Amino acid sequence: MQMKTPYGIPEGFTPRPAIWAAVPDKQWNDWRWQLSHRVSTYEELSQFIHLTPEESMGLQASGRFRVEITPYFASLIDPDDPACPIRQQVVPHVRELQGFDAMMRDSLAEESHSPVPGLVHRYPDRVLMLITTQCASYCRYCTRSRIVGDPHATFSRQQHDAQIDYIRRTPQVRDVLLSGGDPLTLPQKVLEDLLRRLREIPHVEIIRIGSRVPVFLPQRITDELVNMLRQFHPLWVNIHVNHSKEVTPELARACAKMADAGIPLGNQSVLLAGVNDHPDTIKKLCHDLVKIRVRPYYLYQCDLVAGSGQFRTTIAAGLEIMEALRGHTSGYAIPTYAVDLPGGGGKVPVQPNYLISQSAERVVFRNFEGYISTYVEPTDYHRPTRNRWTGAPTEEPGQKGIASLLDGEEMVIKPDVWAGTHMRGRNSMPENEAINASASSEPSSSPVPQEGQFNGIPGVEVAPDGDEPVWAAIN
Ligand code: SF4
Repeated sequence: MQMKTPYGIPEGFTPRPAIWAAVPDKQWNDWRWQLSHRVSTYEELSQFIHLTPEESMGLQASGRFRVEITPYFASLIDPDDPACPIRQQVVPHVRELQGFDAMMRDSLAEESHSPVPGLVHRYPDRVLMLITTQCASYCRYCTRSRIVGDPHATFSRQQHDAQIDYIRRTPQVRDVLLSGGDPLTLPQKVLEDLLRRLREIPHVEIIRIGSRVPVFLPQRITDELVNMLRQFHPLWVNIHVNHSKEVTPELARACAKMADAGIPLGNQSVLLAGVNDHPDTIKKLCHDLVKIRVRPYYLYQCDLVAGSGQFRTTIAAGLEIMEALRGHTSGYAIPTYAVDLPGGGGKVPVQPNYLISQSAERVVFRNFEGYISTYVEPTDYHRPTRNRWTGAPTEEPGQKGIASLLDGEEMVIKPDVWAGTHMRGRNSMPENEAINASASSEPSSSPVPQEGQFNGIPGVEVAPDGDEPVWAAIN
């Protein structure tokens, strides 16, 4: 009797181009063979792809971002179609050498958020730990092309030590994301050692790995690797798939191995013009991911980095895709569309507006079909005045942001230059008494203004009792 493949995991293999037809399966399915036979030059690629003049120029240009493609991933390329979504992601095109307005070297300002090399501490309770500069293949739009791909430069043992030391002495870090480069290209012993040392830190609750290895090199997801990873739960893995053509039987089996080992899987896609910028393309991708137990997590707007110009879409294109997903398919199959703000502002979710209008008692929404309805607010609701959770706070001062305005802890958030601009030649900025009084229960130490003056500002007077407060008069 023929055994049924568990969970509907597909059998079979991606067909290979003729140049690799004679490679024995044992070698083809060995990740070491795949890595050591990557293709990178015009001569190698032109053996199985009909390269366009623009691709040939891109491949032969000096100073371009590194090119390496595993034979497995190269097998997914349509040799006759320059618009093939796989081909555009990994075969350079001369357009990637063109600059564009607002192009940056480090658009997410990761380096200015790095207390030690390779450790990005941008958000209150989590860090990004860049542990290698190497990948299995190289994406033409890579956000970290400034550090990724140099075969002679990667993070050293001393730098890993400094990263772990920072995490050890920073107790608000409860979540560590390992990335690079691609962490799953590291020797297994090195990765295991890093995971073990992170797991020994009591305040590190979860560890995440961001990897495109399951997509470029699914042969690397061996039982041995997965058995090592499962020792360090809770461990999450985010893969990076941009198009359904990447969802092959090999990727499905690699994901099944990880999911069966209890590793929750997510996917991060980048919205790429000409590759996946159509609602139907993303919807099909999300459906295909859910079928292999991968939850669509983020759909990123392309960053403002060198090489990505040809792939950038408008944000309107992303919103149109999100409009076509919400309501039209399961919530599990809908990623969060996010713009990682240039300059280091972090990820901001973007979605179509569903809230149309609001009064004190009613909120008016529209749904994906254009149906408009009202949610009637309760009249007897009181938000809790204190947190019932008694654990130690994990927020750093100054990072509460808009939530601090809603909490009443702050009344305003001002840019650094705001006070200087509004002093208008005066030596100091008067405290705004009325704002302070409403925003804080702390007694103010500022002198009480006297009738006829307001901290010496000519023409602004303290209003007599019962009149409008002074700050309203200033405005
Ligand atoms: S796998 Fe990630 S780090 Fe490597 S080239 Fe692609 S986007 Fe950059």
